[in-house]
Amino acid sequence: MTTNSPRPVADTILNFIGGSYRKGSQGKTFDNVNPATGQTIGTVHEASEADVADAVAAAEAALDGPWGKMTTAERVKLIVAVAAEIERRADDFLDAEVADTGKPRHVASHIDIPRGAANFRMFADVIATMPGESFTTPTPDGGQAINYAVRKPKGVIAVICPWNFPLLLMTWKVGPALACGNTVVIKPSEETPRTAALLGEVMNAVGMPEGVYNVVHGFGGGSAGEFLTSNKDVDAITFTGETGTGQAIMQKAAVGVRDVSFELGGKNAAIVFADADLDKAIEGLSRSVFLNTGQVCLGTERVYVERPIFDEFVQRMALAAQTFKPGVIGDPTYLGPLISAEHRDKVLGYYAKAVEEGATVVAGGGVPKVDGDQAGGFYVEPTLWTGLAHDSTVMREEIFGPCCGVIPFDSEDEVIALANDTDYGLCATVWTENLSRAHRVAAAMQVGVCWVNCWFLRDLRTAFGGSGHSGIGREGGVHSLEFYTETANICVKL
Ligand code: NAD
Repeated sequence: MTTNSPRPVADTILNFIGGSYRKGSQGKTFDNVNPATGQTIGTVHEASEADVADAVAAAEAALDGPWGKMTTAERVKLIVAVAAEIERRADDFLDAEVADTGKPRHVASHIDIPRGAANFRMFADVIATMPGESFTTPTPDGGQAINYAVRKPKGVIAVICPWNFPLLLMTWKVGPALACGNTVVIKPSEETPRTAALLGEVMNAVGMPEGVYNVVHGFGGGSAGEFLTSNKDVDAITFTGETGTGQAIMQKAAVGVRDVSFELGGKNAAIVFADADLDKAIEGLSRSVFLNTGQVCLGTERVYVERPIFDEFVQRMALAAQTFKPGVIGDPTYLGPLISAEHRDKVLGYYAKAVEEGATVVAGGGVPKVDGDQAGGFYVEPTLWTGLAHDSTVMREEIFGPCCGVIPFDSEDEVIALANDTDYGLCATVWTENLSRAHRVAAAMQVGVCWVNCWFLRDLRTAFGGSGHSGIGREGGVHSLEFYTETANICVKL
């Protein structure tokens, strides 16, 4: 149950190490800003290199403590209790997430917080029902051997997270990591430290042994992020964020040959054929472009529309864009802010670049006029362009804002080539009522996830991840087990 009225959130955000909340040992802090107003609403205590080392040591020690000795059933029980406690404290998580991100409460209450709990429940189920592998093997003496696989936790997992769905994306990694018996050290985004810190209270409330779940706050290079990825006692690193950051982390992971799982950026294409159900396509794509103010890794920034319906599509998408109200908190069509002033500058840089590159601005294109408390928030207008070349900067680089370019196409082969002509490969959507074409085109997309006539319809048991510059590895359901466990084979001669 959630309410709509925000309550005051904590103004001091601490590290969580070995089951206790702590300031940073060097006394450094940074501001926590509410992007909906631009106001500083809290102080975050930054972890020093020594604090990060303490967190990793606590996580290592926990592997040898009660946590490491628990049966799967005991671990599953605790993880299910974490999910239940998040649900019980849903309002606290909602307030914290909305304060950090400025996102609409209806988005956080329908997506972020329930998924935060579901990520624990689902991976508890996966681990509780996981089948094993075994083979009976003939031996040279005419006898038999049995081979069977056992899965063991990898150890201490570093979890480095972005700011767009802070609790959801963090628990997507923490859920399976803990279900598999690992311990974790989280480095939440510097923009959104609250829900990771709050989850420490949940861990203590359900009796999670100390050191299993740790949180260190700070930035990337030269701060907590780099201290964590450089720590030699971290056994594997799971990261969601920008492709460039992934490259920097991979260099650190090379020392000690540590495994990585990466969910990175995208420049996702949508293909709308002339036979599509246009109502469905407009509804799905207006969510895909504008939800969370376009700050969704799976969001669409390139739309290819078959020429006979191009004009009608553009007209209807422009109307859809105009229904969002940046800065009008509480309105059902409230469009939240971008995460920071810096990110708004970046997005506005692309808005200017689009015009430079010859775009026709069909909707938006600038900064909305916002009154009252929200006047200092980091809002931009939902924006739609036509007239951009497929190889323009705006159509090639990830913007991560509420905007897309729309380009016409004439044939299936042409549009498959256009959609795949990118270094990224996270996801795509295909809109058509022709069944054969739907399967054919979806299979031709060089991406990790392709949706047909829908978007962001997630079943947490399915493989999730990207190809090319969009990531390494797959997480979700049993696929997560590949990363969060080491498989050992035992061969017994009978
Ligand atoms: P980011 O890469 O800037 O930061 C992500 C995290 O990495 C933050 O916690 C940051 O402090 C940390 N970090 C930065 N530099 C580091 C370093 N050198 N060493 C260690 N840690 C470092 O990304 P962001 O701006 O927070 O998030 C937006 C990006 O995330 C977009 O590119 C988006 O596409 C991507 N994303 C991908 C997925 C996915 O599932 N593929 C999901 C959400 C977001």
